[in-house]
Amino acid sequence: MKNEYDVIVVGAGPAGSIAARFAAQEGVSVLMLEKDRDVGYPVRCAEAINKAGVEMFIKPDYKWITADVTKFSFTAPNGKEVVLEFDSVQGYVLERRIFDYELAKTAAAAGAEIITRAYVNGLIMEGGKVSGVTMEYRGEKKEIRAKIVIGADGTESRVGRWAGLQTHIDFRDMESCFQVTASNISVDPNTLYFHFGSQVSPGGYFWIFPKGKDTANIGLGINGAECKKRSSLSYLNENLEKLFPNASILTQVAGGVPCSVTLKKISGEGIMLVGDAARQVNPLSGGGIASGMIGGSIAGRLAGEAVKKNNLSHIFDYDKEWHKERGKTHEIFNRLKEGIYDFKDEDFNKIMGKMLDLPPEKRTMKRLFMIALANKPGLLIDVAKVFLV
Ligand SMILES: Cc1cc2nc3c(=O)[nH]c(=O)nc-3n(C[C@H](O)[C@H](O)[C@H](O)COP(=O)(O)OP(=O)(O)OC[C@H]3O[C@@H](n4cnc5c(N)ncnc54)[C@H](O)[C@@H]3O)c2cc1C
Repeated sequence: MKNEYDVIVVGAGPAGSIAARFAAQEGVSVLMLEKDRDVGYPVRCAEAINKAGVEMFIKPDYKWITADVTKFSFTAPNGKEVVLEFDSVQGYVLERRIFDYELAKTAAAAGAEIITRAYVNGLIMEGGKVSGVTMEYRGEKKEIRAKIVIGADGTESRVGRWAGLQTHIDFRDMESCFQVTASNISVDPNTLYFHFGSQVSPGGYFWIFPKGKDTANIGLGINGAECKKRSSLSYLNENLEKLFPNASILTQVAGGVPCSVTLKKISGEGIMLVGDAARQVNPLSGGGIASGMIGGSIAGRLAGEAVKKNNLSHIFDYDKEWHKERGKTHEIFNRLKEGIYDFKDEDFNKIMGKMLDLPPEKRTMKRLFMIALANKPGLLIDVAKVFLV
């Protein structure tokens, strides 16, 4: 480890590794610091991702893919189930402890240095500009300088706050999640299952994402306002008891998912934020792996270019580029999320009923939202916008 780099990335999740890779590809010096012992572990994720989101950054490999997704199943509170089936693979359920590790290897191959057990505990600030990080490594305190610091430190990010960026998120937009990986269950290995309803997962959804036919990530997210009344764990236990009474629990994780629009400002003097730290999660689905990698790729490239051009203001283009690439679509997803926020059990029952009245070939995701938002004509245009692209 040197005392100075062009770019330092804090956090080696998917967003951090891709940022480090894209910066290193520009030929500048890059250091990525990860506080945990292992890149990719512990996993706090249900591990589902769309196919295109993976292929943009790494060749799909069954070393870290545990399921191909070809079907989505939606279950209403009254038990009615709608299954959307596709002719081709739409996405994957990953093994993130290997996936994240492989992504970090691509950053290393591009020239980035990576160090684990390196806990960043502050920023070096000079004249209002971020000029490096302070950290603890093997019991020693260190200061490492950098022209640009990229905060990829996840949902609980502190890097942005230290840099003076506004990182507050309304608790109503923070989904409180609890998940187990369970075995000795029986599921279709190619279907992602979603259950809705006030008794199942109020203000969110309950998921079963298969990892083979006898194992799955089973979890739920409930919105911040609901979890004041009853915890996500208590809902999960009840759902598990009902649907999978003989399940064996292999892992348990809890975590928050920021389901909001992206932060107003994701770059500043010497600082950029990517992934969950920037609130780049798709606010409708809660998926943040693919969009975090997209954010990371833009930030990493711009940071590398800025150093090469000797024009650090170049990083301010990041906000605009992200907005064009994904941020605008996330604003639409957020409006759709708000549109279904107050749905009652009867609404979900009605929607699934109407879907089941359609011939199977007419049951599509777009149609599902069209039916769901039929009483909110303004939002139908948004549905058309996101499902036509
Ligand atoms: C229960 C649950 C289920 C989810 N399911 C899905 C899903 O199915 N599909 C999907 O796309 N998304 C899902 N998500 C969201 C997804 O996990 C995140 O959006 C994604 O991991 C974000 O990537 P990231 O690189 O921004 O952050 P992270 O993956 O969180 O990585 C941040 C890294 O920074 C490190 N770090 C933090 N602070 C410091 C520090 N001070 N110093 C050094 N290192 C630090 C952390 O140790 C971590 O390794 C889920 C989230 C949860 C909680």
